Amino acid sequence: MTEVQRLEQMQTGFALRYGSLPELWVRAPGRVDLMGSHTDYNEGYVLTLPIDRDTWIAARPRADGWVAIESLNLGGGCEFDLQAVQKDARAPWTNYVRGVAAVLRQEGYPLTGFDGLVHSTIPLSSGLSSSAALEAATLQVFQALGGWRIEPVQQARLCQRAENEFVGVNCGILDQYTSILGQPGCALLLDCRDLTSRGVEVPAEISIVICDTRAKRQLAGTEYAERRAQCEAGARQLAGYSPHVRTLRDITVEELAANEDRLPPSVARRCRFIVEENRRVLDMAAALPAADRRQIAGLTARSYAGARDLYEINSREMSWMMTAMLGAPGVIGARQAGAGFGGCMLAFVDSAQTGPFRRHVEGAYAAAGGLTPGVYVVQPAPGAGLASPLAAYAISR
Ligand code: ADP
Ligand code: MG
Repeated sequence: MTEVQRLEQMQTGFALRYGSLPELWVRAPGRVDLMGSHTDYNEGYVLTLPIDRDTWIAARPRADGWVAIESLNLGGGCEFDLQAVQKDARAPWTNYVRGVAAVLRQEGYPLTGFDGLVHSTIPLSSGLSSSAALEAATLQVFQALGGWRIEPVQQARLCQRAENEFVGVNCGILDQYTSILGQPGCALLLDCRDLTSRGVEVPAEISIVICDTRAKRQLAGTEYAERRAQCEAGARQLAGYSPHVRTLRDITVEELAANEDRLPPSVARRCRFIVEENRRVLDMAAALPAADRRQIAGLTARSYAGARDLYEINSREMSWMMTAMLGAPGVIGARQAGAGFGGCMLAFVDSAQTGPFRRHVEGAYAAAGGLTPGVYVVQPAPGAGLASPLAAYAISR
């Protein structure tokens, strides 16, 4: 689908539902972690990439203080009163929109109601942060209609709060931060302790290719909570031996090695993965812009092995996909993405070979387990904001 086709589909959908054309367009990107699994809630580092798969909302303000929201991706839209924002179990996806409204209201921002239509090219529930993109896009609508502006890191915090407190998903801030603070043309090296970041160039000769296992993320919620709790328990115990430790972020590989056998074995495995993965993020932030292929291959291989053997977030489908990716022409390195347990993975691929790479992965993965994968090359994308070129196109028609 081209941008113009997407725009026309949304305009038609909007007119059908609301009887006029939208007046405002916003967008917010999905994201993929190039390195750094589960490091965010340990106040560590992540090398994160905002991608050109994104969520758009077309909107038109209303005068009655209500929001009507529908999606071209999922049925079950709804209307709600901004004076009394409640969670609605009958239209679960709208809770991401309601949550942002509720948090902004708590913070005292004056909110204007709107009719809105959502469309996303991010595959939903596969680890590319469609939820954060929906939150970030919603915040852009309120901000544009309200005529006020929230500083970007605070925007990310508020969207995370909407997901944590209103929707009830205990996610870290990585997804929202990336969707809002992305800079054009590069990945972000994010420090999840102080929420600062710097751009890291993705060289033109290397392409990032997302390989979606299309396997449902079974147990992802409970397993995620358990991993978090184990990391916190590990950090607490390690703080007893080294008082400077607040989170696993504060421990070097050497310090961990000195006390590892005092931890319960499963906690020790989780801690080792996080501490090593943190180190790999910094190494990858140096290797990627230098297009150091050997280093990228080694770091991704160790990240995947650690995720499988130490953090235990692998699945059958992920190992099929890993084999397919590593056997494909042009592959430089490959690993998991998102929280694991299925969902998306990614490969670093020689840009001249993305076509043959895709064809091999599609064939090999389907042959291994009968599932059709999603394989797509992604480009770095700017962070959430008004989609002004599209608005100009819409007005000119
Ligand atoms: P991820 O963020 O990795 O895609 P989540 O489970 O966190 O996975 O969020 C997915 C949920 O977000 C969907 O099930 C749906 O409720 C909501 N969502 C995201 N994008 C859209 C959209 N375009 N339309 C409707 N709901 C959406
Ligand atoms: Mg999400």
